[in-house]
Amino acid sequence: MAIFTPEEFDDHESVLFFHDKKSNLKAIIAVHDTTLGPALGGTRMWDYDNEADAIEDVLRLSQGMTYKSSLAGLNLGGGKSVIIGNPREDKSEELFEAFGRAVHQLGGTYIAAEDVGTTVEDLEIARRSTPHISGIGEGNAGNPSPATAWGVFNGLKAAAHYRLKKQDLRGLKVAVQGLGNVGYGLCQYLTDAGAELIVTDIHDNAISRAVSELGATAVEVDKIYGQDVDIFAPCALGAILNDETIPVLKAKVVAGAANNQLATTKHGRDLMNRGILYAPDYAINAGGIIIISHEGPKFDRGSAMKQVAGIYDTALDIFRRAERENISTAEVADEIALERIERVKTQRAELALTG
Ligand code: NAD
Repeated sequence: MAIFTPEEFDDHESVLFFHDKKSNLKAIIAVHDTTLGPALGGTRMWDYDNEADAIEDVLRLSQGMTYKSSLAGLNLGGGKSVIIGNPREDKSEELFEAFGRAVHQLGGTYIAAEDVGTTVEDLEIARRSTPHISGIGEGNAGNPSPATAWGVFNGLKAAAHYRLKKQDLRGLKVAVQGLGNVGYGLCQYLTDAGAELIVTDIHDNAISRAVSELGATAVEVDKIYGQDVDIFAPCALGAILNDETIPVLKAKVVAGAANNQLATTKHGRDLMNRGILYAPDYAINAGGIIIISHEGPKFDRGSAMKQVAGIYDTALDIFRRAERENISTAEVADEIALERIERVKTQRAELALTG
């Protein structure tokens, strides 16, 4: 099985495999880049079809964390871990204690956090074996989703101002796909700002709540893309901006929380060519990682949320540069993230020469 040659391999600093026979732990930790600081990223537990899928996932997700933290201006690198197993059937205290020992072996180069398939309780068990776990303990930020929703709302507002020339969201129609932790929080901010909501979810109870509490209009799952709206906010799945969906979009702005919304880089250019402004996903969904970066004994939610609101300016910078350079907003986000890392590397090299 190839490790250094899959498309997802991007000069990762390390990819470590851990096994504990007693608990049947099979985990992979990928550290993509630590130029800006320790690699922080969630621990995903998933029943992968095969081991190659798990490797691809951890490589791709850890790289994504490097870009997200860099663009958000955080002194954190990118990492991620996956535990191969069914989160409903294969969890045990022994398993997470063994996982904690695995994280500890990296000596703080990697800091784990909650992700799909793992809970705060699981990570509390892992913390028996290592301090290198975020999201728990003294001065923890708690559930990051409200901060993510606040950041997405600010990024969406920036996109509405830039593309629709609207100073506020009053009267704008927004189609929201996915009413989970982040999507519902975003809907609340949008309603307060006077926007009109068209929503969908695969769960009826999530839809009923949005209809009764927020006055939203519900549509079927596959009808969300073609809605006659100003803004489309994907808050559920990845790869939903693709050859099938982009041609039917009527929205002039796409701004939502879901990770990896573009099926491929080309789809960022397709949106641009259709005159649709895309707010890059990892630029505007960084609220969670920003609030986590504030964790510690002096944790102050107010100043963390202020920094999250700065996503508005980050998004505007991306839109302006994309227009100037005539490239897609997704490509600009990547450029800015990489430039910061390269700048720090150059400064270090110069210091090493002069020192
Ligand atoms: P969640 O699981 O709470 O919510 C997802 C919602 O999407 C659920 O209500 C689910 O029923 C719905 N859904 C699933 N498939 C759907 C479909 N085909 N059509 C419509 N709805 C569908 O997850 P979340 O924490 O709200 O995260 C949402 C997205 O934002 C994910 O892509 C996640 O990776 C990303 N994200 C979340 C955070 C965070 O802080 N939670 C941070 C960054 C990025």
